[in-house]
Amino acid sequence: MTQGTMLYEGKAKKIFATDQPDRVIQYFKDDATAFNAQKRGTIVEKGIVNNKVSERLFRVLESAGVSTHFIERLSNREMLTKRVAIVPIEVVVRNMTAGSLVKRLGLKEGEPIEPPVVEFYYKNDALGDPLISEEHVRLMKLADPKIVDEIKQQARQINAVLQPFFKERKMILVDFKLEFGLHNGKLLLADEISPDTCRFWDAGTRESMDKDRFRKDLGKIEEAYQEVLRRVCGEEG
Ligand code: UDP
Repeated sequence: MTQGTMLYEGKAKKIFATDQPDRVIQYFKDDATAFNAQKRGTIVEKGIVNNKVSERLFRVLESAGVSTHFIERLSNREMLTKRVAIVPIEVVVRNMTAGSLVKRLGLKEGEPIEPPVVEFYYKNDALGDPLISEEHVRLMKLADPKIVDEIKQQARQINAVLQPFFKERKMILVDFKLEFGLHNGKLLLADEISPDTCRFWDAGTRESMDKDRFRKDLGKIEEAYQEVLRRVCGEEG
C-alpha cells in the first residue's frame, strides 16, 4: 500500500490518499487538544496507543457484527481504512454522569445512567460542536432520517459490546464519542475509539485513564495511556 498525498490534517490525525481511491491511511499524531483547541499539548506516544487501541476495538466490534471502516493496521501509527464521507454528527453515549452533561444539567458526577443516554453534537469547530436534537439534524439535513435511526441503533449496540469488554479489564466505560461515515451508501463506524474519545475510570480506584488527565492537568498522562494499551491489547508501548 503506497502512501499518497495528505488529504486532511485534523487535531489528532492526518489522512493520506493511497493508490486505491476507496482506501485511505489514518496517521495518529501525539498532538493533544482540549476545550475546542484552546488547550494544546503533546502526549508522548499517544498516537501509537490510540492506533493500537482503536484496532483492537474495531476488531472486537466487527466480530460482534458492527461494520467499521477498519481494514488493517499498517504500522505503529498508521491504519488502513475504507474512505468514507463523514456524517457531520458526533454521537456521544453515556453510561455514567460526567463531563459536559454534569456541567450542563447540574448533575452529580459518577452516577450510573440506565438506560444509557445517546446525544448528538453538530460537528462544527467554528460553533464549538453544539449539542443538537434529531429535529436539528433534520432541519440542517445532516443525515437521512433512516441513517439517523441506524446511527442510534449502532451506537447502542457498540456500547452493549464495549461496556462488558472494559468491565473484564477492570475499567468503567463512562462515556465515549463515535463518528460514522458512508461508504458506497453503507453506514460504517469511522474515526477512532481511544482514550482521546472515551472516558475510562479504573474500576477499583475510579481514577481517570483518559484525556481527562490532560484536560484537568491530573499528571501521569502517558502512564495512563500506556495502562489502557496494556489492559486493552495486553502489551506495552
Ligand atoms: N468527546 C470527544 N470529542 C469531542 C467531545 C467529546 O471525543 O469533541 C468525548 C469525550 O472524550 C467524552 C465524551 O465524548 O468521552 C463526552 O464528552 P463531553 O460531552 O462530556 O464533553 P467534554 O466535557 O469532555 O468536552
